[in-house]
Amino acid sequence: MALYSKYRPQDFQQLVGQDHIRTTLLNEVKVGALAHAYLFTGPRGTGKTTTARLIAKILNCTTRDENGDPCNTCEFCTDITESSLIDVIEIDAASNRGIDEIRDLKEKINFAPTRAKTKTYIIDEVHMLTKEAFNALLKTLEEPPEAVYFILCTTEIHKIPDTIISRCQRFDFKRIPVRTLMTRLNFIAQKEGIEAEDTALEMIARHVEGGMRDAIGLLDQLSMEGKLRTEDVQMHLGITSHKTIEDFLDVLEKQDLTKALRMIEEVHNEGYDLGTFLREILASLREKMMQAIQNNSDPHIWLEMITRFEEARAMLRTTVIPQLPLEIAAIKICHAQGGNGAAITNAKTATVTTKSTEKKVIPKEPEIIEATSKAQNEEEKTAKKLKDEIQHEKVDANIAENWKRVLEHVEPPSLRRSLTDAKVTEEPNGELTLSFRSNFHKNKVDSNEGRMKIDKVIQHIFGRKVIYMCVLDTTLPTTTAKQEKPKAEEPAEALHSEESVKSGAGNLLDQAMEMFGE
Ligand SMILES: [Zn+2]
Repeated sequence: MALYSKYRPQDFQQLVGQDHIRTTLLNEVKVGALAHAYLFTGPRGTGKTTTARLIAKILNCTTRDENGDPCNTCEFCTDITESSLIDVIEIDAASNRGIDEIRDLKEKINFAPTRAKTKTYIIDEVHMLTKEAFNALLKTLEEPPEAVYFILCTTEIHKIPDTIISRCQRFDFKRIPVRTLMTRLNFIAQKEGIEAEDTALEMIARHVEGGMRDAIGLLDQLSMEGKLRTEDVQMHLGITSHKTIEDFLDVLEKQDLTKALRMIEEVHNEGYDLGTFLREILASLREKMMQAIQNNSDPHIWLEMITRFEEARAMLRTTVIPQLPLEIAAIKICHAQGGNGAAITNAKTATVTTKSTEKKVIPKEPEIIEATSKAQNEEEKTAKKLKDEIQHEKVDANIAENWKRVLEHVEPPSLRRSLTDAKVTEEPNGELTLSFRSNFHKNKVDSNEGRMKIDKVIQHIFGRKVIYMCVLDTTLPTTTAKQEKPKAEEPAEALHSEESVKSGAGNLLDQAMEMFGE
């Protein structure tokens, strides 16, 4: 017998992780106010069908205890445990979309129960029903016969018609917390005489995303000769060790790109699933972020990394090279050096001083944003200081000539193309205004990464810093950029049309080109 069936809760005391539902239901039993139709929604394996069966027991048990729990010894209780009570009808709407079953239901709904006090219909995956089946169901829900009860279960509530939802009492099943899952797994392991390593149990509990059924299933499947070993769980789930994750984040924090890229390659070569790897990275980063907030230190560096890896996760679904999204994320994080990177490094050591007099509490979301924008303010201040210093310098007479040389030296070519899009005007104070006709090119130049690279070249050519402002000017003639562009790059430019930019293709192409130097 599978461990999951063996340890399926047979009364409400054993039901784990859904306390709010247990309390409400047992109260309804006490006052004799059970509804005729329930709708259970929530992630897979969180106890929906189990609870449905418990309700069926409560409805039919001959000797309920004082809490309202079923006795589990009377003939109805034992038959329901064994799924052999004819008056409890379980329908799986996923098979054949429930067409035959609902027709059958319509025909027999008015017949009295065969043996038990009531007839209970448990419809699993109810969102799979056809429109016709839903309509038939709706009719019976509007006027259910006295002895008939419905429990509808679904993982996808948004697919259930409102007319159905409004006629049911709805319960939302929650993902079961990792700690709760571990306690239950530990209990079962002890009962079964399985020697389970704590880290192995934790890996399972984290992997199943709150589903008890999957958790117990994995414990069952991965225990060998009375042992559950971390190594086996790790191999089976494709989980990289916690240490690898920590090492990887450590390398990124130190902005050691070469090492980071090598680690990605290693993880990939060892056959680990990079999607799982990414998920673990994000989980670990989230913990670090929360910890930073609790310690009143700035979570900015972790926020930045989370953003990059979330981008990677989105890209992972469509990429043909599984390592590529991770590599791009690593490059972006490590290249945040200088411009944005300096802010990150500073922010890491700085504490949020404005809050230091208050009690240490976990700030709510707006405060996290406040912390981030604080770091940005620091950047702005530095920029302003720089601006003031330069303002008094003499205006460079041959700025136009020098700008051409800047264009020649800016790398990579994709950034050069974007910069070429700009019309350069010199302001009386010596600052430059770069007017772009395309928002795409403006954003590329005006990004932290773009500015960092351009500033380097400007410093080299002009021998000093030059302040420039990027503006969008759609009234510019479209020929401006093309005239100045080297002929050889014309075909690639075609890919930068507004359309490809909208679809995101331009962006991806740029990222790829930056990586491989075209
Ligand atoms: Zn009973």
